[in-house]
Amino acid sequence: MTTEGKAAPALHYLDNNATTRPAPEAVEAMLPFLTDKWGNASSMYEFGGRVHRDMEEARAKVASFLGCDPGEIVFTSCGTESDNHAIFGAVEALGPATTVITTKVEHPAVIQPCRALEERGRRVVWIGVRGDGTLDMDAYRAALAIPGPKLVTMMWANNETGVIFPIAEAAAEAKRAGAVFHTDATQAVGKTTGVDMSAVPADMLSFSGHKIHAPKGIGVLFIRRGTPVRPFVLGGHQEKSRRAGTENVPYIVALGKACEMAAEETRDGTLDRIRALRDRLEAGLLAIPETSVNGNRELRLPNTLNISFPYIEGEAMLYHLADAGVCASSGSACTSGSLDPSHVLKAMDVPFTSLHGSLRFSLSRYSTDADVDAVLDAMPGIVKKLRALSPFGH
Ligand code: PLP
Repeated sequence: MTTEGKAAPALHYLDNNATTRPAPEAVEAMLPFLTDKWGNASSMYEFGGRVHRDMEEARAKVASFLGCDPGEIVFTSCGTESDNHAIFGAVEALGPATTVITTKVEHPAVIQPCRALEERGRRVVWIGVRGDGTLDMDAYRAALAIPGPKLVTMMWANNETGVIFPIAEAAAEAKRAGAVFHTDATQAVGKTTGVDMSAVPADMLSFSGHKIHAPKGIGVLFIRRGTPVRPFVLGGHQEKSRRAGTENVPYIVALGKACEMAAEETRDGTLDRIRALRDRLEAGLLAIPETSVNGNRELRLPNTLNISFPYIEGEAMLYHLADAGVCASSGSACTSGSLDPSHVLKAMDVPFTSLHGSLRFSLSRYSTDADVDAVLDAMPGIVKKLRALSPFGH
């Protein structure tokens, strides 16, 4: 029941780039590690050793999902920590003359470490994007020509628009220029094929469990053997002295299961089903006058739709959508709470009126036709009502 005594509407969760529902299979896999198998994976005796073996089994599943060696997987607490580790750790190893090359549309988990380095006197080059959110490759190549040690940190897929960067090509060019290459693949893993470290010459890759149906509080940093990178969290010898702190075995086990399921989904047609649902949502919303999609519609994750309804505010639309049980986002969940327009859409030169009227819908394996119908039923009326009140006279 709501506070007004009305029955709460059914939940239509379309905010999967913010977080995902933990898969029941992943939760089931982790529960024994909260009840019987609660030993410390670092202990010398068998009660801990058994737990250690289960953790290593999960590491092998994550490694197989990413196409790398289990010894190249470091477990962290989240995607943000993995990004911080890669950036600060590589710059410390490469030395004070390092140039950092990044983009203007990264998640704050990359932007803020890069800004902090800039404040400490490091040179940071911010590469822009085109109007459709794709990477300015000419500017990237020019940055790679800067002499001296370099770290590139570049997202694989954008959390707001779903636009995919050409990471295989960008990593290969970085390697030819002698740069260390890190990619924040938090939104790409499980949602696009090709995240395969045996084929892509990236040195480091970050991702987060809670975006692929594992619990919140577990992240991964892939570090290719031989990559110059110092530890970020200092303390004990866990994770082969690359990340101190007692390992979160329940979540690691859940993540192993989630990776196994995500790997299956890149092959079994689930991504096509998600894409078809997203496309139906997109077509229905584009029927509302003056709407437009933000981001390249081909080079895009199959689950993401960023769409602008000019002359009205995203926050107001979200408020009304919530009445219909729909959860969506007006930009990055991490920046909601501030009314600053999206830095991603600003970098794409999206006009002012559309910038403020943008919504992000993001789907998952659990999304249904009923979720799409709920949005398509509610949105025309919401837009009409808000435009009637708009100071822009529509
Ligand atoms: N990078 C990207 C592209 C993201 O979308 C997010 C979360 O939204 C993160 C990093 C941060 O991940 P976490 O929430 O696990 O810290």
